[in-house]
Amino acid sequence: MSQSPPSSALLVDSHGRVLRDLRISITDRCNFRCVYCLPETEEAANFYQSRFRNPAVAAVGLPTIPIHRQWKPKAELLTFEEIEKVARVAVSLGIEKLRVTGGEPLLRNGVENLVARLARIPGVRDLAMTTNGFFFANKADSLRAAGLHRISFSLDSLNPVNFQKMTGRDGLAGVLDGINLARRTGFDPIKVNAVMIRGLNDHEIEDLGGFARERNLIFRFIEFMPLDSSRAWQRDLVVPGREILARLKNRFDLTPIDSSANPSETAKRWRFTDGRGEIGIIAPVTEPFCGHCNRLRLTADGKIRTCLFSIHEHDLRPLLRGGATDDDLRDELLRIVVHKEAGHRIGQPDFVQPARTMSCIGG
Ligand code: SAM
Ligand code: SF4
Repeated sequence: MSQSPPSSALLVDSHGRVLRDLRISITDRCNFRCVYCLPETEEAANFYQSRFRNPAVAAVGLPTIPIHRQWKPKAELLTFEEIEKVARVAVSLGIEKLRVTGGEPLLRNGVENLVARLARIPGVRDLAMTTNGFFFANKADSLRAAGLHRISFSLDSLNPVNFQKMTGRDGLAGVLDGINLARRTGFDPIKVNAVMIRGLNDHEIEDLGGFARERNLIFRFIEFMPLDSSRAWQRDLVVPGREILARLKNRFDLTPIDSSANPSETAKRWRFTDGRGEIGIIAPVTEPFCGHCNRLRLTADGKIRTCLFSIHEHDLRPLLRGGATDDDLRDELLRIVVHKEAGHRIGQPDFVQPARTMSCIGG
């Protein structure tokens, strides 16, 4: 049984928030091209741009470097040993939840070996992964055997044509199979995330809600955030959480779930009064929850980000590759977290979209 660290050795920021959740991106690569994350520089982004023309982007133009040439070289990615070391030190400082993400985490060779390493760290209470689900069938058993506790899928549409429009890939059937397989493999509960975009998939809100109820899923509707590689985000494209909820309440009988015991929870949650499954609304744009944020992020190339919207990153790779001890890393993490931002500034005149996109940061 692991001992809890003393309060003097916790990751506490200058706003008094104790950090408990580390999101670990293990690759910036992805096999999907979601319009809100990593649209293909030509086809998807053009669709996006022509439909939702953002004057700011029109002024500077779209990225011209093909996506595959922007991937980080392998040598710059942290090895599994290095990731484990950061995670172990972070857990010794009070981190309890680890989430493996990307890019698409299942693209990283031997991902189950990393999961096994993380699962063995004493003090990890929750070990989860977020995936687009496309390659899940090949990995379900090995991830489960490696000790993964929970799995979250991304699924923005139940219509194969719209799914392809959203993700750039003909992958709906595979993702649905992945969700079914997760259930059979013993993952429970199963979470599914959908990013809602006005004019693209907001007509599917009720169908997605019905899917959650029918399949007994924890379904999260997420507001679109300005973290897309084509920088086409505009406020008008955000479907406010309040609107999503109103539509769901119109269709389903929902009972609120009390989350007061867990204030850092990103989602406001409801269960279906007359059925299984639950829905949650994550509304970082219209109803920010930064005041209770307890998250820290490690990018695939070894940078610590104290906020999704951080402009500055803190590079651990020189330490990791320069012979730093666990104590050195511990001191560095304690120093870094003090700088965690009070909150994001979306909608403020001084808002600056981070240079890196969600696919590099890790959602
Ligand atoms: N590739 C995996 C996947 O899609 O599940 C894991 C990485 S992805 C970056 C993690 C989560 O971020 C996904 O649920 C995705 O929907 C979400 N995401 C990506 N870009 C976003 C954006 N601009 N706004 C809101 N959520 C976004
Ligand atoms: Fe890939 Fe996930 Fe981004 Fe979609 S959201 S492009 S699946 S990293």
